[in-house]
Amino acid sequence: KIVVVGSINMDLVTNVEAFPRPGETIHSLGVGYQPGGKGANQAVAAARSGASVQMVGAVGTDSFAQTLIDNLAGSGVDTAGILRKEGHSGLAIITVDRSGENHIVLAGGSNKAFAFGEIEGRIAWDEAHAVLLQNEIDRETTAAVMREAKRRGVPVWFNPAPAVKPEPSLLPLIHTCILNETEIEVITGAKVSGAEDAERAAGRLLEAGVTQVVVTLGDKGCVRAGRDGESVHVPAFKVRAVDTTAAGDTFIGAMAAASSEGKPVMEALRFAAAASALAVTRHGAQASIPSRDEVERLLSG
Ligand code: ADP
Repeated sequence: KIVVVGSINMDLVTNVEAFPRPGETIHSLGVGYQPGGKGANQAVAAARSGASVQMVGAVGTDSFAQTLIDNLAGSGVDTAGILRKEGHSGLAIITVDRSGENHIVLAGGSNKAFAFGEIEGRIAWDEAHAVLLQNEIDRETTAAVMREAKRRGVPVWFNPAPAVKPEPSLLPLIHTCILNETEIEVITGAKVSGAEDAERAAGRLLEAGVTQVVVTLGDKGCVRAGRDGESVHVPAFKVRAVDTTAAGDTFIGAMAAASSEGKPVMEALRFAAAASALAVTRHGAQASIPSRDEVERLLSG
C-alpha cells in the first residue's frame, strides 16, 4: 500500500478575457470546479497506476468536503484516513486569462489544520510500502510523519513542492526525493538547467543523506541519482503537449506505484515517464491522469 499524507483541494477555476485591475469588477467567461491538491493528485495517480492507496489528510465542514472525498473514492483511493476539521476545505482560487496566464490564491484551510497526533493512528503503517509527502500541509506534521516512518522502517517519498528548504536534519529521513528543476534550485541553492546540472545538484542531496533523488525536467525527461552510485537519464516520451498541469504529480504517483510493486528503478522511471507523457496530452489536472492500461499500451507500443 502507498500512504499519501497530504493536501486535498478544490480548485475553483474562472476564465477571464483579461485580469481585473485592483478595484475593478469583471464578468467571467466560464467557471470550473476541479478536485486537486498535490497530495490528492498523487494519490489518484498512484491508484490509477494500479496501486492500493490510502489518503490521509483533512477536509473541512463546507459543502466541498464530501465532494472531495467522493472524488478520491471514485478513483479507488481509501479515504477512511481523512479527517473533517471545522472550517473550510483547501481551496485553490485560480483565474486564467485568454493567453493562458494564471493567478492563483491558495487557501490551505483544513490541509494546514491537522497535527500528527490526529492522524498517526489512522495511517496503515503495517501495510505501507511507502509514505508519500509534499509541502502543502503543516511543516511540523510532515516532519513528524517522516520521523515515525523512519522509526518503523517505512520508506519516505518526498516531493518538496511548493519548494521550501527543508531542515538538514530531515534529509536523512528521506528515501526518495522527487522534485523539478525549480524545486531543486531552491533546496540546494544550485542553478539547474538540464540533466547535467540536475545530476550535480542531486549529488548534494545524496551527500546530505537522501537515498535516491529524481529530478524531473519537463520535456527533457528526468534524471535519477542514488547512493547506490547508479545515475540514469530517462528521456521524455515524444507527445504533443496541450496542458502540463499535474505532470509532476502524475509522474510521482506512477513511479511510487511501480516501485511499490517491486519494479526495478529503470522500469519504474519508464512507467512514470509514460504516465506523465499521457497526462500532458490532455487538459485538466486529475482528469488528465491516465489508467494503468493506457500507460502499458504506450510502453508496449
Ligand atoms: P512539474 O509538473 O512538477 O513541473 P515537470 O514539468 O518536470 O514537472 O514534468 C514531470 C514529468 O512529466 C517529466 O519528467 C516528463 O516525464 C513529463 N513531461 C512533462 N512535460 C512533458 C512533455 N512536454 N512531453 C512529454 N513528457 C513531459
